[in-house]
Amino acid sequence: MRGTRDLLPPETELWNRVEQTAREVFALYNFSEIRTPIFEDTQLFARGVGEATDIVSKEMYTWEDRARAQSEKAQSLTLRPENTAGVVRAYIEHKLWERPGLQKLYYMGPQFRRERPQKGRYRQFYQIGAEVIGPPSAGSESPVRDAEVLEMLVMLLNRLEIRDWTLQLNSVGSPNSRPAYNEALRKALSDVVERMCMDCQRRAVTNPLRVFDCKVPEDQPIIETLPRISGFLDESDRKHFEEVQKLLRATGVPFVINDRLVRGLDYYTRTAFEFTQGSLGAQNAILGGGRYDGLSEALGGPPAPGIGFAIGEDRFVMALAAGQETASFISAPQAYIAPLGEAMSVPAVKLAQELRSQGLRVELGDESFRLKKSFETADKLGITKVVIVGEAEVASDQFALKDLQSGEQEKVARTQLAERISSPLPYAQAKRS
Ligand code: AMP
Repeated sequence: MRGTRDLLPPETELWNRVEQTAREVFALYNFSEIRTPIFEDTQLFARGVGEATDIVSKEMYTWEDRARAQSEKAQSLTLRPENTAGVVRAYIEHKLWERPGLQKLYYMGPQFRRERPQKGRYRQFYQIGAEVIGPPSAGSESPVRDAEVLEMLVMLLNRLEIRDWTLQLNSVGSPNSRPAYNEALRKALSDVVERMCMDCQRRAVTNPLRVFDCKVPEDQPIIETLPRISGFLDESDRKHFEEVQKLLRATGVPFVINDRLVRGLDYYTRTAFEFTQGSLGAQNAILGGGRYDGLSEALGGPPAPGIGFAIGEDRFVMALAAGQETASFISAPQAYIAPLGEAMSVPAVKLAQELRSQGLRVELGDESFRLKKSFETADKLGITKVVIVGEAEVASDQFALKDLQSGEQEKVARTQLAERISSPLPYAQAKRS
């Protein structure tokens, strides 16, 4: 299907490395995993992400799920286009505010948007995200949360050795400052909007802030002239934003202010951010996020300010792959077991089982192969050590271990094999030491 793809080895090694590293870093900051369903009630996204956003108005995979039983109602369902709404729904549904402190939750998984596919943009793509959410009394509004999340992301980027990134930061204000800004934006738009694209003409009426999502090149000079939210922040928004910046400076997180950055989802309030990366070309946003202090209430829950982000995992992997040779993320098995003839199948299978249970990564050969073909096969797989399983070996419980790199062969007792295979030293050196 257009916009979907198969992820194959060895590239999947990189995906695993990204996910593993993210789990490790999230654990250091005391985040725990949440898994929400891949499809949800369409209304969740309409109310959460916002009807006027591109995601909801154009990109969702939505279908009418017919009732199967009389007791069941037909329902409009949607493949999740993002995961924050699902997490906040779960927060409300399971009354997670009754648990102590803040909820610090992370997720990983596929998201679905009907976008025009291109390099770095897919219809099924993968996000790794995290959310900090809780009642205001648990400190969920504190700028410390914003700075901590950003600083955590920098640790993750550093651990993955993804370089050449820029953190773009803005405050999109709170519901207190938004009406005055919307009014100013509407007014400014009324003079110019007829020269803009159809989408912008629609946005100007439904939700003027969304004009900043426009990618049409001809519209950009006009958008440049529009008033910016930074001029409309109220005192408490401004203080919050300054505090976030102060904390980022203290933790050595570099950032640039971009007061055009509003992010393409309606739920954002105050801090909004995006990381871009130099090697990725047009689709250079590798992750984005921000505060969503009113989202829980919009979904029928109690006040539960929060902040979160979503990493575009596809793009993380691209950035990671750009920096290294394919060979560097393939790890070959440690040994190849070569049975000499059909009668050796049973001892070979048993030996492989034994070595694997001792923690060795082992490839098991074929009883129909001649020894030369076994060596060639092992070599093609990048395996340097071959264990030969023949009648004499089985009878003596001593196996011939061939090092394909040095060409040397030695006899090793079965009980010593695992240790000998794991030893990084070539045979001659090991014997000397
Ligand atoms: P968003 O959920 O729109 O805030 O996006 C967060 C991140 O997800 C972006 O910065 C991208 O890295 C990634 N992303 C969003 N849409 C796509 C897509 N269609 N294909 C690949 N990655 C995407």
